[in-house]
Amino acid sequence: MCSVDPDELTEMTRATGQLDISCGDVMCRKCGTGTAEVVLRVKDAYCRECFLAYFVHKFRSTIGKSKQIRHGDKVLVATSGGPSSAAMLHLIRQGLNETSHKQLRFEPAFLYVDESCLSENPSSGHEYIKKVCGEVTSLNFDCYVTSIEQIMSTQVMSPVLFTKEWNEEHLPKTKSLEEGTRDLLMACKSLSAKEDLAEQLRQDLILQAAKALGYQKVFLGDNATSLSIAILGNVAIGRGSQLPGRVHFKSVHQGIEIYRPMREILQNEIQYYVQIHNLSAEQTPGFQTKGSSITSCTEDFVKTLQMDFPATIPTIFRTGDKLVSSSSEQSRRT
Ligand SMILES: [Zn+2]
Repeated sequence: MCSVDPDELTEMTRATGQLDISCGDVMCRKCGTGTAEVVLRVKDAYCRECFLAYFVHKFRSTIGKSKQIRHGDKVLVATSGGPSSAAMLHLIRQGLNETSHKQLRFEPAFLYVDESCLSENPSSGHEYIKKVCGEVTSLNFDCYVTSIEQIMSTQVMSPVLFTKEWNEEHLPKTKSLEEGTRDLLMACKSLSAKEDLAEQLRQDLILQAAKALGYQKVFLGDNATSLSIAILGNVAIGRGSQLPGRVHFKSVHQGIEIYRPMREILQNEIQYYVQIHNLSAEQTPGFQTKGSSITSCTEDFVKTLQMDFPATIPTIFRTGDKLVSSSSEQSRRT
């Protein structure tokens, strides 16, 4: 099968000068006959077909080689509407439509968490629910909706199924829960603590939603770039011991299995995939970092280094893969 980037660690060498393919005279390094449309790792040019084969293979092999997702498994796919989620939605739809042995055989439903109460414009939440969930249901999948403030509720409210007739009353907003969630975040003194808390709340809510809907397996859209940033960032904020549960393909939290099928794919590869397929990707309202936090500084550091040293993210990522927790609940490696 097509393999553009082997899993082995790559030597850290400086790459200078992005290959210019704008004149259309550069050929694909894989097949040698197609015109290059994509440049990976600064110098490696690929035609559309070879790039897509490589991209789809990475996704399906990540799921396939684990042998954890079986025929008929019900999987709740968390979607934020961003590029990684948009690509994962498209990959799942295509994978289920396949007729060959490559066909994906699980039964997905999607979950969108409205986090607009933590944004500067809380009233925009419903507009994005319609956009993101409308995209999911247009591909004939069920999409459930919940809101981040539900994590503060003493009574677990099951996520609501999105329908064509959706209106604001379908997801009731409770002022006291919204204020409670915002107050909790504001009580954190540093920006880094706020970011960390927002992520914890999101994950806890997804687990709670999976339990309420009767799902044992959950897919998250973490990609290799976001996971590399998480690896360094979590070490910096003192969560190093929890890394395996945060970055491995499979981890178990509160009895729910979390999987990260996009974890082998880099962010710039996802952007190419989204462009090629003209997918709709939204920056949905939620907690936005303003100023410097440990995570935003780590992100700048990793992405800047990645520009000159394309082996940066694969190297950090593979290091994270080797970490094993001594706690069986945090992570069970596959
Ligand atoms: Zn090619």
